[in-house]
Amino acid sequence: MTTSPKIYVAGHSGLVGSALVRRLTASAPRHDIVTRSHAELDLTDQAATQAFFAAEKPDIVFLAAARVGGVFANKSFPAEVIRDNPAIQANVMDAAWQNKVKRLFFFVPRGIYPKLAELPIKEEALLTGPLEPSSRPYALAKIAGIEMCWSYNRQYGSRYLSVIPTQLYGPGDNYDLDTGHVIPALIRKFHEAKQAGANHVAVWGTGTPRREFLYSDDMADACIFLMNLPDTKFDELLGLAAPSPQPSPLAGDGRGEGADEELPLSPPLINIGFGSDIAIAELAETVKAVVGFTGEIVLDISMPDGAARKSLDVAKLTALGWTARTPLRAGLSRAYGDFLRGQR
Ligand code: GDP
Repeated sequence: MTTSPKIYVAGHSGLVGSALVRRLTASAPRHDIVTRSHAELDLTDQAATQAFFAAEKPDIVFLAAARVGGVFANKSFPAEVIRDNPAIQANVMDAAWQNKVKRLFFFVPRGIYPKLAELPIKEEALLTGPLEPSSRPYALAKIAGIEMCWSYNRQYGSRYLSVIPTQLYGPGDNYDLDTGHVIPALIRKFHEAKQAGANHVAVWGTGTPRREFLYSDDMADACIFLMNLPDTKFDELLGLAAPSPQPSPLAGDGRGEGADEELPLSPPLINIGFGSDIAIAELAETVKAVVGFTGEIVLDISMPDGAARKSLDVAKLTALGWTARTPLRAGLSRAYGDFLRGQR
C-alpha cells in the first residue's frame, strides 16, 4: 500500500482500539483515522452502519467493537452477548464489503478455542473440541464472525482476517478487582498496599499457573504490520493463494469467484502473542518490584487457579517476520504509569 489509507477503528475506546489509535497516530505516514463513539453510531443498527460506511468510505477496518463477554457478562446477560455481537459483525462486515474496504481485521478472544486445546494453541485448534462453558455465548458469536470473514472472502473476494490476541494489558485496562484480569488487579493491589503501608498483598491461587501477556501497543504494532503486508503475502495468509508452487483452487485475484470451489484449507485466522508465558508467582514479584511495594506476597489458595496454562502458538506470525518488542517489565512500568494517571 503506497498511499496513506483511511482507517476506521471500531471500538476505539477499549484496550485494543485505543492501542490501535495510539500506534496508528504515532506511525508514519500519518494515517487518516475515523472513529465514532457508541452514542454517535450504534453498530447493531444496520441502516446507520451502512450510512456511515457510505459516507466515510474507509480503506481499512479494525473491528474491535463488541458487546464484551467476560465471565460476568456471559453469566449476567448472555442474551445480549449472543444477540448484539453477530449483529455488529454482520452489519460491519457487510457494509465494508458494499463499500469496497480493502482489508478488515476482526478481533476475536482466546476463548474461541476449545477448553482442552493442546498448548500452545495453534490456529488449527478452532472447532476441534467443546468450548469453556462459561464463555459459550461470546465464543460462539465470535466463531460465527470468523466463519463470516471466511465466507465473504470466498464468495465476494473480500480480504477479512480474524486476529486472536493473547491476554493483553496496557493503558485503559480494567482495574476493577472483581472483573479485571490478573495484571491490572495486581497493579492496583500492590499500589493500594504501598499507599496504605500494608505488610502483605494477597495473590490468588497457588502462583503456579502460567499465562502469556502481551502489551497492548505491541498487539497494535502486529496489526499494523499485517495491514502493511504486501497483497501476495496477505492473500497467502487468508488462504486465497497457495504459498507452494501448486496453483491454488482460488488463484487469480479471488474476487467474485470461488463460491463453489473447494474450501481453502483453513479459516483466515492468526494468533497474536508474546511467544512465551510466565508463572503467576513470578508475575506477582515483577509487579511488586515495578510498583515499589516492599511487603510480602501471600498466596490465597482459597481462590481458584483457573487453567494451568493458556498460551497461544505464534509460529504463523513469527514466520511472517513479526515478534513482540516490549519485555514484560517495561510494559508493566508503562501500565503502572497509566494506572497512576487515572488516579489523579
Ligand atoms: P484467566 O487468564 O482467564 O484465568 O484470568 P485472570 O487474569 O483473572 O487470572 C489469571 C491467573 O492469575 C489465575 O491463576 C488467577 O488465580 C491468578 N491471580 C492471582 N491474583 C489475582 C488477582 O488478584 N486477580 C485476578 N483476576 N487473578 C489473579
